[in-house]
Amino acid sequence: MANVHELKYLKEKIEELKESGVYRKLPVLEGANEAEVILDGKKVINLSSNNYLGFSNHPRLKRAAIEAVEKYGAGAGAVRTIVGNMSIHEELEELLAEFKREEAVFIYQSGFNCNAGTIQAITEAGDLILSDELNHASIIDGTRLSKADKMIYKHSDLDHLEQLLKENRDKYRNVLIITDGVFSMDGDIAKLPEIVELAEKYEAMTYVDDAHGSGVLGESGRGTVDHFGLHGRVDFTIGTLSKAIGVIGGYVAGSKTMYEWLNHRARPVLFSTSLPPAAVGAIVEAIRMLMESTEYTDRLWENAKYFKEKLGTLGFNTGNSETPITPVIIGDEAKTMEFSRKLLENGVFVSGIVFPTVPRGTGRVRCMVTAAHTKEQLDRAVDVFEKVGKEMKILG
Ligand SMILES: *Cc1c(COP(=O)(O)O)cnc(C)c1O
Repeated sequence: MANVHELKYLKEKIEELKESGVYRKLPVLEGANEAEVILDGKKVINLSSNNYLGFSNHPRLKRAAIEAVEKYGAGAGAVRTIVGNMSIHEELEELLAEFKREEAVFIYQSGFNCNAGTIQAITEAGDLILSDELNHASIIDGTRLSKADKMIYKHSDLDHLEQLLKENRDKYRNVLIITDGVFSMDGDIAKLPEIVELAEKYEAMTYVDDAHGSGVLGESGRGTVDHFGLHGRVDFTIGTLSKAIGVIGGYVAGSKTMYEWLNHRARPVLFSTSLPPAAVGAIVEAIRMLMESTEYTDRLWENAKYFKEKLGTLGFNTGNSETPITPVIIGDEAKTMEFSRKLLENGVFVSGIVFPTVPRGTGRVRCMVTAAHTKEQLDRAVDVFEKVGKEMKILG
């Protein structure tokens, strides 16, 4: 039967995507991810990457990657538990633990992988997971892999979280509260001091996914826990090495006990090959740079403030962001996508984000300012926002 190979059921679904107007091709970048890029053959200002510190094409990281390749080769050759645990992996974990001011750090091949592997390893049947409704997809998937019961609390709603704790704490052995440190669509920061207090009151554990806080918040990018001075009071802090750090990978920071357990039970570490030496070499260099100087995070915040103020002065609604993530809220879905398209035609790449990624009627373009943008580039981007905003009557 040849018919079975036609994947007719998928073709039908793809047609549905086209009919509802959400079918798309992936944009193609010609060259490195920088403040200005060649995208689909056109030079544009890039306000869409998570490369917060401009590290992804930094000469020091590239040199470190090449040196690591020369010493350790192109690939690790095995999972860490067999013979893929190189001294460079151990060096990275020790350096990250020092940087994060935690007892230990356990690395994964990505932030996604870290959530997929950690949550199921630290919970089991008879436990309860309480998760913020706006948590990242990898937390949702990681939670699905756990045998624990799950409940969702309203976004950053401490009253709702407390109600769930009050009603359920006694029914479970362990309770784990999971939150993003920085929420990626609005740029708001989790109310971590209050969450930690509630957790301690009800003897629950806390798990903070700080993918957008790593390299951004806290002293020289040490993250949301450092920002609030909560060291020793958050049990599991996830970081990514793929965003501000500019390479690829994820990790969980916490206690030595956590490290020992994950090293025996984290499935992505047992069943998937470890990070390649080039990536690890570059990451080690990036962390050293952050430990040497706050110049990178200082420049990031300075640029973000500059850009946000200019857009606000023009009259754009930049929402409740407390971080360099700068949403420009348009509202209507179709209008948001048209705004994004027109910005691109005028040389600024900012992706439009609409339902179901954000609630209906809150469509926005999400601007990611980085340390690598020059003031001149930011000014040019603001001029384009003003021009298109007036053309589309978003601005008065
Ligand atoms: C981006 C992101 C991840 C995934 O990180 P990768 O290293 O890109 O896999 C996980 N959690 C959150 C909150 C994120 O924003």
